[in-house]
Amino acid sequence: MENRKVRVRFAPSPTGPLHIGGVRTALYNYLFAKKHGGDFLLRIEDTDQDRFVPGAENYIIESLKWCGICPNEGVGFGDGHHAPYRQSERKPMYRAYAEQLIASGNAYYAFDTKEELDEMRKRMEVSGGTHAYNAITRQTMKNSLTLPEDDVKQRIEAGQAYVVRIKIPRNEEVRVLDLIRGWVIVQSSQMDDKVLFKSDGMPTYHLANIVDDYTMQITHVIRGEEWLPSAPLHVLLYRYLGWENVMPQFAHLPLLLKPDGNGKLSKRDGDRLGFPVFPLEWNDPATKEVSSGYRERGYFPDAFINMLALLGWHSSGNQELFTLEELVNEFSLERVSKAGAKFDPEKAKWFNQQYLRKRSDEELTELWMPELTEKGVKADQTYIRKAVHLIKEKGNFLHEFWSLGSYFFIAPEKYDADVMKKRWSEGSSKFIAELKGAFETMEGFSSATTEVQFKTTAEKMGIPPGQVMQLLRVCISGLGGGPALFGIIELLGKDEVVRRLEKMLDVK
Ligand code: GLU
Repeated sequence: MENRKVRVRFAPSPTGPLHIGGVRTALYNYLFAKKHGGDFLLRIEDTDQDRFVPGAENYIIESLKWCGICPNEGVGFGDGHHAPYRQSERKPMYRAYAEQLIASGNAYYAFDTKEELDEMRKRMEVSGGTHAYNAITRQTMKNSLTLPEDDVKQRIEAGQAYVVRIKIPRNEEVRVLDLIRGWVIVQSSQMDDKVLFKSDGMPTYHLANIVDDYTMQITHVIRGEEWLPSAPLHVLLYRYLGWENVMPQFAHLPLLLKPDGNGKLSKRDGDRLGFPVFPLEWNDPATKEVSSGYRERGYFPDAFINMLALLGWHSSGNQELFTLEELVNEFSLERVSKAGAKFDPEKAKWFNQQYLRKRSDEELTELWMPELTEKGVKADQTYIRKAVHLIKEKGNFLHEFWSLGSYFFIAPEKYDADVMKKRWSEGSSKFIAELKGAFETMEGFSSATTEVQFKTTAEKMGIPPGQVMQLLRVCISGLGGGPALFGIIELLGKDEVVRRLEKMLDVK
C-alpha cells in the first residue's frame, strides 16, 4: 500500500454545469497528485441515465482546461491504461462484481415492486421505525433472503425486474478513517441495504464507484463532504469484495457555504447576490436559461484557482497569493479544515485585482488591444502601455479599462456632475485659465514639474491646492477619481492638456 503510486480521481456526474465546489474538489485532487508525483484522473460517472444532461461532460472538460488543472488520464485527457473512463462504457464489467457479492452472501436479489416498497415505507412510518430497506425490513420483503431458491431462479429466468442490494450486517460498528476528520464511526443498524445493481445491467453509483476506484488503482479518494455518509457503505464493499488491503484513503472536503447566513452555496445565492457559481457560462439545454461564469465575467483563471484553493485550506503562513506551482508545493490535506468555508464574492474580486496588477503592462496591453482597435484607437503601443500602467492600479477587471481610462485616447465629452457641482465656483474659470497659461510656458512637462506648477499657481492665487485638485482631474479626465493625476497629465502631454483646459473654459 505504502509504495503504491499516488492516483487520485475527479469523478463528476454529468448532470449539469460544474459548481465551483466541484472545481475546488478537482483542484485539491490535482494539487495532491502533483505534490506526490502521482496521477490525476477524470472519470465520468454517468450510471444514472435519467439525470444525464447533454453538454455537461464537455463543460467539465472545458472548465478544467480553462483552470489549467488538466488530468493526465481520463475522459478527454491523456491516454491512460484504464480506458474507458466513462462508466456507461464500462457497463459490461460490473455485473460480475454484483454476482461475486451475492455468491459470498453479502448481497441479494430483491424483486419488490414500487408499490410494495411504498407500502413498506408507510407501514414503517405508522410503527415509527426507519422507513429504510434494512436488516429488519428486508425480512418481510420479496428477496432472495426470504424467497425459496427455485422461486428466485424462476423469477430471474422469466425476466422479472430485480435489483441487487447489499446485505448490511445487523449490528456492527463500521469505521472509516478520514484524513481530514479522523475516525468516523457508524453503527450498521443506521445503514440501509442500498441498491448496487439493476436488472438492466446498470450498476448504481456505489458499486460502480468502488469497482472503478479499485480497477483504476486509486489510492486516495478526495471528494465533497456530501459523500461522507456513503463512506461506511464503501468500506463494507471493499471488505466484501476482498479489497481491503488496497482500499483508498478517504478525505472528505468541507462544504462551500453561502456568503450570508448558513447552508451550502447554491446557484440561487449567486443569482440573488450577483456573482457566478460556475466557472464558465452555462446555457441550460432544457430551460434555455443562461448562468454566468467566472471566465465570462473577466476573471483570470489563475486568480480564480488561487481564490478557490483558499476556500477550505490554508497555508502554513499568512500568504494569500500563490501560483499554481506554489500551491502544489504547499498543499497538504492536513491543512484542509473540517468546517465549511464561507464564500466571499468581494474577496473573489480582490484576487482578480491582485492578479491584474501582477500582470505586466505588455501583457495587459496585448489583451486590451482588440477592444481598443474596435473603438478606433490609433495611439502607439508605448503610449498605450503607459496608460495601461496607470489604469491597472484602479481596476479589478480588464473589461473595466475602457470606462476607467478612455480619456487617455479621447477628450472627455462629459464631466462628473457631482464633482462639478461641489467644486466649481466663481473663481474656478480664472484658476483654470491661469493654470493653462502656466502650463503653456513650461519647457519640460513631467509629472513632477507639472505638479509643482499646479501648486505654485494655486498658491499664487491664494487657493489651497487641495481645493482645486479634483477639479483639475475632472477637466482632464471627466472623472472624479482615477490614477495619479500628474501621471495622467504627463502622459497626455502639454498640447492635449492645454486643449482640455481650454475646452473646459469654453464649456463653462
Ligand atoms: N459521481 C460523484 C459526484 O458526482 C462522485 C463522488 C465521488 O467522488 O466518489 O460527485
